[in-house]
Amino acid sequence: MTVRVRIAPSPTGNLHIGTARTAVFNWLFARHHGGKFILRIEDTDLERSRPEYTENILEGLRWLGLNWDEGPFFQSQRLDLYKQAVEKLLEQGLAYRCYTTSEELEALRESQKAKGEAPRYDNRHRNLTPEQEAAFKAEGRNFVIRFKIEDEREIVWHDLVRGKMSWQGSDLGGDMVIARASEAGVGQPLYNFVVVVDDIDMQITHVIRGEDHIANTAKQILLYEALGAKIPEFAHSPLILNMEGRKLSKRDGVTSISEFKKLGFTSAALVNYMTLLGWSPPDSTQEIFTLETAAKEFSFERVNKAGAKFDWAKLDWLNSQYIHNTPADQLTDLLIPYWEEAGFKFDGGRNRAWLEQLVALIGPSLTRLKDAVEQSQLFFTETVEFSEEASKQLQQEGSAAVLQGILTALDNQPQLQEATAQEIIKQVVKAQNVKKGLVMRSLRAALTGDVHGPDLIQSWLLLNQIGLDRSRLSKAITAGS
Ligand code: GLU
Repeated sequence: MTVRVRIAPSPTGNLHIGTARTAVFNWLFARHHGGKFILRIEDTDLERSRPEYTENILEGLRWLGLNWDEGPFFQSQRLDLYKQAVEKLLEQGLAYRCYTTSEELEALRESQKAKGEAPRYDNRHRNLTPEQEAAFKAEGRNFVIRFKIEDEREIVWHDLVRGKMSWQGSDLGGDMVIARASEAGVGQPLYNFVVVVDDIDMQITHVIRGEDHIANTAKQILLYEALGAKIPEFAHSPLILNMEGRKLSKRDGVTSISEFKKLGFTSAALVNYMTLLGWSPPDSTQEIFTLETAAKEFSFERVNKAGAKFDWAKLDWLNSQYIHNTPADQLTDLLIPYWEEAGFKFDGGRNRAWLEQLVALIGPSLTRLKDAVEQSQLFFTETVEFSEEASKQLQQEGSAAVLQGILTALDNQPQLQEATAQEIIKQVVKAQNVKKGLVMRSLRAALTGDVHGPDLIQSWLLLNQIGLDRSRLSKAITAGS
């Protein structure tokens, strides 16, 4: 048997972290077994589906490296298939037309509520005679298609994550609607039904999805039986929870993959982290791995039943590890979009070699790629504002003279090298008989406008290459005198 799994996002929003994590588990399982990973866009909800969300989902999956083998298939292009399946169930007497009006359903719900019962359809139109149907039609009533669910039926499956699961037919809310009303006949088919028709058609062997779908699985198993198809294996992965232990929702702020990207997470760190949300490798001390490595070891035996808490600190830590291990040239490629987004211009000597040198300087202190914007701001502006501490430093006795000494020494230097920079500092210390600390602090304040920051000599060399060190020294001398 070839393993065939799918991810079936609905394009009613951007790619959500929960869907992406489900995609990760599907991908890992498919790759582990040399199977196929299929992408199906569940756009049956025409009102809420948007092409830009589909675009966002495809882009997000690609960015994460979750390449698919078949698809994307769009449910909106497969309506005939669903209608045929509805007809089949109608013919076999496993489904029927239900003419109950929304007012009648509302009254039913109210009376159930009054009796303290759970809301459920009472199957009142299950056995209509042709005369009754004709009368309802004559009244101009619309119908929906309902699939029969027997109350006595016990539905049992062996979940790959949760073990034995059993569900009682009477807990499924009565005969279920599988297609909406339509004047033209069978109308819009609904989620639980089309999923099954598609999964049968696409020969899905394992349905891997979030545990919020467990009740759907019970209904879907009955549909597989009714359609005479083999029932796939099911694996319900744990939900992603916020730090308070509640299901991660929009209220928690960032939840879509494109937002994580915007904040400066690398795709490698993010997929790595998502893999750890509910799964752990056999060697649980191993925390940093690629999708390919995880695929070798992936199994549902090591997927937790309990919800997985989303831990920003852990994600940040992983992200920083990835950034620090990325060579400067590759890291430069990753950072350029963030600089561009911030409006930074690559002009005035800010060429590729210079950028890579800058990246080598700031890379080790980045946690998120976006941090590079703030940390390199001073290299992309002509002048810097002096912080309060920097201003104080520049007022210090001897500071202006020291800076003047450096400025004069620079006059004979076409392009500064590290050794020369060190030599200039040494000379100024000696000539003016001051402490090296004063020179370093004053130089930092003058060049960067601050009293702390990245390596001073490297920063100076970078500023020197784009011709900004002299002007900043002059400005600082004026500010300090
Ligand atoms: N469209 C459903 C969702 O996004 C798919 C669920 C499933 O995998 O069956 O939740």
